[in-house]
Amino acid sequence: MNSFSERALELACENVEEGGHPFGAVLVSAGEVIAEGVNELHKHPDVSGHAEMLAIRRAQQQRGSVDLSDCVLYASGEPCSMCLTAIYFSGIQTVVYSQSVEEAAEAGLSLSGEVYAQIAQPKESRRITYEYEPVEDQEMNAMLLYAEKSVEQGR
Ligand SMILES: [Zn+2]
Repeated sequence: MNSFSERALELACENVEEGGHPFGAVLVSAGEVIAEGVNELHKHPDVSGHAEMLAIRRAQQQRGSVDLSDCVLYASGEPCSMCLTAIYFSGIQTVVYSQSVEEAAEAGLSLSGEVYAQIAQPKESRRITYEYEPVEDQEMNAMLLYAEKSVEQGR
């Protein structure tokens, strides 16, 4: 096992000792650790306090940029769908994980696998009520406003 995966697992084990969930994450750029995180749900009532989210947030704040396309994310546990989205949105191209969502479920942490199963369902079949309320007043069309502004600014 490479040293970054070992570090992510070390963070996860330390977090369990401190009363938290078994997740650690390490972001690596050009062979150097640029940010780390552990699951902090036992410390703060914030569902975005996942190890990967916190490592990504710290790296982006340090850089002043959302672009982490040069980074590899080492996660002790397979990222949940929230973290996976953050991975896509930040441009990370490679994720290395050591314990799967199935292994997490065996340890009593089944929500990540359940959400992946929900996402795989058609919208109308998900357990969350998900309604489409189309824009009626074009003055309130935020997407159109953005598209027009982008043209004006030459984006
Ligand atoms: Zn997550």
